[in-house]
Amino acid sequence: MPVNPRNKEGIVNVEVYKSIYEKISKLAEKEKLTIKDYVNRVLESHISTKELVNRSFSEISQVGSTEDAILVQDKGKDSVIASITLQKDGNMFCSVCKKTFCEHIFRSLLSPDWIKILQNLDRAKQYEEIGDKEGGKRK
Ligand SMILES: [Zn+2]
Repeated sequence: MPVNPRNKEGIVNVEVYKSIYEKISKLAEKEKLTIKDYVNRVLESHISTKELVNRSFSEISQVGSTEDAILVQDKGKDSVIASITLQKDGNMFCSVCKKTFCEHIFRSLLSPDWIKILQNLDRAKQYEEIGDKEGGKRK
């Protein structure tokens, strides 16, 4: 392993894909942080979230996601799998509790997969709007 001359500072090198690095550089600049500080802050926040999830939701864990739902398993309820979706009215919905807020929804909110789902919904919405402009062919 190559020796980092800054190891006295307790620093290690990690390889980051260039496309990610460029995005991180811009975000760090916006927040007036060095890239090192920005990356460490983001990672620290990620670790805190993981620790919170493990501590507060030991029975509930994410087991997957689809284009529009987060799937969580509840070991405290016979390992049932709840599908958490975002409704058109903006409310969340849990398939197990049939509620718009519950511990499964709370747990799902900590999933980074929501970004992917929101992007999908956004794309679907734009598609619908284009359809409307073309005479409402799609509905
Ligand atoms: Zn629920």
